[in-house]
Amino acid sequence: DHARHMFQQFAVFENEMELRVQHNLALLGDLRRALATEGELKLAYQPVRSFEQRRVTHVEALLRWDHPQQGRIPPGDFVPILEQSSLIQPITDWVLQRALEEIAPLWKSSARVGVCINVSPQNLVGRDFVGAVRKALARHDLPPEALGVELTETQLMAQESLGPITETLRALTNAGVKVWLDDFGTGASTLIRLQQLPATGLKIDRSFTQDLAENRRNRDLVRISVDIARLLGLEVIAEGIEEKSDYDAVSVLGCDASQGYFVGHPLPIDKLADFLRAGETPGS
Ligand code: C2E
Ligand code: MG
Ligand code: MG
Ligand code: MG
Repeated sequence: DHARHMFQQFAVFENEMELRVQHNLALLGDLRRALATEGELKLAYQPVRSFEQRRVTHVEALLRWDHPQQGRIPPGDFVPILEQSSLIQPITDWVLQRALEEIAPLWKSSARVGVCINVSPQNLVGRDFVGAVRKALARHDLPPEALGVELTETQLMAQESLGPITETLRALTNAGVKVWLDDFGTGASTLIRLQQLPATGLKIDRSFTQDLAENRRNRDLVRISVDIARLLGLEVIAEGIEEKSDYDAVSVLGCDASQGYFVGHPLPIDKLADFLRAGETPGS
């Protein structure tokens, strides 16, 4: 009887596995089609505001997928599956091209707003990513400073060897492209690895930037992150700022810039242009 129970459990497990594999394959097929269809994939741009310059210096490009049957699918539901497939390469290329194309007029205007894209470790090894970036910048007549790439701390530190990725990141920073360590505080960075990392700065994960007026622990975590950044000569962006009190707090704690619903929501490019033209003030 026990054996039969075990067998049934295993059959259920096997069935679930198979369903998941089928779901992922269908999703990848749909994504491949989406890439070839105009209008299914879009970018939303979220402002990052510098405290010192008192303005939006750049925006983060966030992928949006409007599936014809399933409606909008959040990136958290398809990017991890994408990352297990070679399709992550053409998708990232698409994001790079579209982001530069859409941001070029804003960079060239008096607003001088640059753009950051999210990349996966796979994008940075085994192919000439830096060459692709140079070509894309040239095509849109943009300087390297107009572009940044973000890589999550968790994904970076999960690499067995940082050698190949570090090489690409060094080539990018040497060329003048900005490099940001995303969701900082959620991965297991060691100081030795951080110190060897060619990066422009850290983006402190939003799990530590909430309720700073009341939450002493979060305040200490932000302060320590800023101290580490200063020690290594890195800039600091606070992510996920939703409240004025936290916006003020991260400024006092020494963050250079902030991002979050208080500063601005992710917006389609035309709405972003309106937002910038309106001479945004945070919270308004
Ligand atoms: P991320 O890079 O850390 O992006 C920030 C996420 O936090 C975005 O979610 C954004 O909409 C959300 N967010 C921003 N401000 C606030 C706030 O004040 N409060 C709250 N609660 N959330 C806020 P989104 O757009 O769903 O993206 C989730 C993740 O998906 C991103 O996290 C990024 O890791 C990944 N992703 C998005 N686009 C791309 C892409 O083009 N390529 C790759 N490889 N990954 C992407
Ligand atoms: Mg990001
Ligand atoms: Mg982030
Ligand atoms: Mg995050």
